[in-house]
Amino acid sequence: MSTSSQTADCIFCAIVGGYAPASFLYQDDIVVAFMDIRPVRPGHLLVVPRMHAELMPELDDAVLATMWSVANRLNRALRTGAPSVEAVSIYVADGEAAGQEIQHAHIHLIPRHADDGFGFRFPPGYGARPARAELEVIADRIRTAIRLTDAPGLRGN
Ligand SMILES: [Zn+2]
Repeated sequence: MSTSSQTADCIFCAIVGGYAPASFLYQDDIVVAFMDIRPVRPGHLLVVPRMHAELMPELDDAVLATMWSVANRLNRALRTGAPSVEAVSIYVADGEAAGQEIQHAHIHLIPRHADDGFGFRFPPGYGARPARAELEVIADRIRTAIRLTDAPGLRGN
């Protein structure tokens, strides 16, 4: 996997490259973290890999490990440094249909408090428990996919 594949029209690549402004919180050789410019709540921040990748599965394990480690450090910091924090939502929108707005993978950390008005909206029928056999059919498809995607040469590391 390449270590730097920045794209000209990606705002996060522009921020990483120093061509667009950001309020940085953290930087190392692999990831940066900065404030979201349209925060859901005050303190909403993003952890972003320096290399351009649209989706999380395109990132190798070392980059992912660094992203989640930095996210956890910033989670600790938010709980003491951001205004009115009772909890933190750690969120990845991995693909446009999941709500991803910037096509450069990133982790959201959003300070939360009770009744802050933010949350997931569940689809109609949520809460019903499918039969075990139905879970097993889907699990078997995913188990097969795990074997295929873990095959040598198909991983980025
Ligand atoms: Zn990018």
